[in-house]
Amino acid sequence: MLHESNTSSEAHFTDELYTPFASDWPSIAGRPPRRVSKKIWVGNVPVGGDAPVSVQSMLVNDTRDIKESIYQIQRLADAGVDIVRLAVPDAEAAEALKSIVPASPVPIVADIHFDYRLALQSADNGVHAIRINPGNIGSKDFVRKVVEKCKERELPIRIGVNGGSVEKAIKLAYPKQLERQLVESALLNARILEDENFDQFKISVKASDPLQAVTAYRELARRCDYPLHLGVTEAGTLKRGISKSAFALGMLLYEGIGDTIRVSLTADSVEEVFAGHEILRSVGLRQEGVNIISCPACGRCEVDLHGLTTEVEQLVAKLDVPLTVAVMGCFVNGPGEAEHADVGIAGGIGQYYIFRGEDRIRRVPEAEALDALKEEIARATEEFKKANPDWQGSKQAQLIKK
Ligand code: SF4
Repeated sequence: MLHESNTSSEAHFTDELYTPFASDWPSIAGRPPRRVSKKIWVGNVPVGGDAPVSVQSMLVNDTRDIKESIYQIQRLADAGVDIVRLAVPDAEAAEALKSIVPASPVPIVADIHFDYRLALQSADNGVHAIRINPGNIGSKDFVRKVVEKCKERELPIRIGVNGGSVEKAIKLAYPKQLERQLVESALLNARILEDENFDQFKISVKASDPLQAVTAYRELARRCDYPLHLGVTEAGTLKRGISKSAFALGMLLYEGIGDTIRVSLTADSVEEVFAGHEILRSVGLRQEGVNIISCPACGRCEVDLHGLTTEVEQLVAKLDVPLTVAVMGCFVNGPGEAEHADVGIAGGIGQYYIFRGEDRIRRVPEAEALDALKEEIARATEEFKKANPDWQGSKQAQLIKK
């Protein structure tokens, strides 16, 4: 990449040469529209239709530990999660829901495998949705019993299919075609629910291979209008999991597919929420929250940039205004590379410069950098709110909730 214009080649950048090229340039406005899907409600959160794409996560602690479950749900809610799922492996866990659900600030989905009776118990104990993996529930009759209960309680269902639970007949019919197996299994089970005159459900067809997940979701999107819950299952540890999910979910969302997402990570669930928001922001489906841009640092950097960036990330985690904050290693290239940022900070020798656009407005010792940036972000936030009096921030999504 060229940082500066080269006088010897300036003649090539004339309007005549550049303009026709620019008019052909693809833009975000050319992004495919969102797939038209049916809207359902998980508690007070809409999923599908014109609803914003919601971010989900799952508890990793023992659901029977009520205190810990409530604490973990609150942590996820503080990170901005929209919906939380928890495992219900036995009757004691289902019983704990009586105390957990009323204490939760976000809707709770009960994750049920094998025993349909746990789904019935969870529904009676107040959850906002039931996730079943129909392939391991045992029989169509058991699935029907879950549907009956959900109808009675006005709860939606997620049909959550993955490679481990595809029906034998489907596996035999489409050997070595996991994507097709997932889709056929999902549609088979969707038909069971439809036969019961039940349409309040969403579907997931998670594969652990991101390409297979993309293929399966694309096909499913083509073949039904139910809302889709996107995810790459068993995606892995923090770095690998985020990379795989960003690729698969980003690609699908860019194509307009997907109504709610979960980034599955072998890591703190709070990281799943942050990753989910960042993926949505990257594909232009989320505005709220501060976008941090930071340079990787190089030999020109004379400050602890990585340390400061981590602190800035924590500083703005709960801000919902759509500001861009730049954290750059040096003043040589920093402001130029980040001129579109609302607020920026760039390193000098043992000090930092605060800048707005390309203007350097203050110089502070390294130890005072975070406080100075905090002040400037607060100022930029006020300016933004003044210029956008109707801005509701994260309440923006609340407005369309029930
Ligand atoms: S902004 Fe400065 S420190 Fe950061 S990568 Fe660019 S030249 Fe290096």
